Amino acid sequence: PPKSTSEIRASFLDFFERRGCKVVPSSSLLPEDPSLLLANAGMNQFKQYYLGKKTMREIGAASCQKCIRTTDIDIIGSDGRHLSFFEMLGNFSFGGVTKEQACAWAYEFSTEVLKLAPHRLHFTIFDEDEEAHEIWRALGVSEDHISRLGAEDNFWAAGPTGPCGPCSEIYYDQGEAFGCGSPTCAPGCECDRYLEFWNLVFTRYDRQADGSMPELPHRNLDTGMGIERVAAIVQHASSNYEGDVLSGLIALGVEISGRAYDPLSYQGDSRSLRIIADHSRAATFMLADGIRPSNEGRGYVLRRLIRRAVMHGRLLGIEGAFLSRFARSVIETMGPHYSELIEHRDLVVSFLASEEERFFATIDNGSAFLEDALAGLARGDTLDGRVAFTLHDTFGFPIDLTIEIARDRGISIDEEGFDNAMTEQRERARAQVRDVAWSSFDSVWIGLADTISPTAFVGYDNYEAEARIV
Ligand code: ATP
Ligand code: MG
Ligand code: MG
Ligand code: MG
Repeated sequence: PPKSTSEIRASFLDFFERRGCKVVPSSSLLPEDPSLLLANAGMNQFKQYYLGKKTMREIGAASCQKCIRTTDIDIIGSDGRHLSFFEMLGNFSFGGVTKEQACAWAYEFSTEVLKLAPHRLHFTIFDEDEEAHEIWRALGVSEDHISRLGAEDNFWAAGPTGPCGPCSEIYYDQGEAFGCGSPTCAPGCECDRYLEFWNLVFTRYDRQADGSMPELPHRNLDTGMGIERVAAIVQHASSNYEGDVLSGLIALGVEISGRAYDPLSYQGDSRSLRIIADHSRAATFMLADGIRPSNEGRGYVLRRLIRRAVMHGRLLGIEGAFLSRFARSVIETMGPHYSELIEHRDLVVSFLASEEERFFATIDNGSAFLEDALAGLARGDTLDGRVAFTLHDTFGFPIDLTIEIARDRGISIDEEGFDNAMTEQRERARAQVRDVAWSSFDSVWIGLADTISPTAFVGYDNYEAEARIV
């Protein structure tokens, strides 16, 4: 069975090509579709096919798509299965492949190609989807490995109206050792026991304003499987970060910082090491696709990833610039499949270095201000929340850094005061926010469950107001 990430990628595309699907390269992270912030699912580039505006000779398509999920950025490092950048393997069809066939292929790929033990596989289906239930049963899945979930989890919708349909997800049981121990622990639980790795969406209805759901002209298929999760499973790695692609970046962070990494710890240094590994990889891919740091939209997402990585570098005690070393490592590992990385290597490295330099200046200015404030305090004192807020708001100095530096001297932060000042600032900012072009129907259509909430964009338009979430 395929073991390495590149073997998994190749065997997936080969599997579907042999079954008549057209293998299509990943689209850029910078979408052609102006309504989409960043590519976030394999189906993005097929939108016109779903809508029936384009057709394909083949029965369907397969791809390995570069994705960024901005909605997951805040939790990166605090678990082992979410990444801001990941590769999504997917197969798609616009009427050419039946639901039975799609499920059979997914089952075959999981058990025959990846050689995953059937007793470890669990399937979730939409409550009322008897069809999916029968299909999995017919493939040999036992009743206690199928769970029914509600619309929130297993019914995908374009929005209040428009294309929608049930989905079915495949989970891998990593074993009790990964679990929360709760008697109700099952696929969908927040803990790491059941790892979701493949989502099969069956878009077949067109919901109307009156709530009725006539059938679409054809039954669509849209599947997505995170390659880092699959790699972790077949490599018996305890998380995405222990797989063959990301473990090298973790090791680099350990080498540069001299700090220890514990795969089972989701706080402190281990979390920081994960954030640097993940964010530096995401930033490298974004730069190679032509995205540039800025204060709004995509450029803001990039700037935030870079700054957050740099900040965590400081928390790890790394003194100088380090991001270009990570970028070089990413390019070396992933360049063989993504030639854009090699093509734009110099540019990527120089943008990273200059953005990093700019942020150092910010940090240095803030440090001077913080030193003044701390000079008047003694061990056991509390730093005024408004001082911490000024640092964050005026200097762009990350609150996590303020907390760490103060903590080193036995000083705590008046968090309530900070939060109050933040709330007031948010209210002022909200009053000024204009509508963003990519909100509304389109963005919802495009996401495979990665909807972009308009409030998230308040932050993207205003870095200072979002910096708290580092
Ligand atoms: P989760 O519930 O774990 O957040 P999801 O339901 O949001 O995942 P989907 O939108 O169903 O994910 O995407 C399809 C597949 O893409 C998932 O089953 C998973 O394998 C992978 N995936 C999704 N989000 C991430 C991420 N942030 N990092 C790595 N892989 C991901
Ligand atoms: Mg999910
Ligand atoms: Mg899912
Ligand atoms: Mg998710």
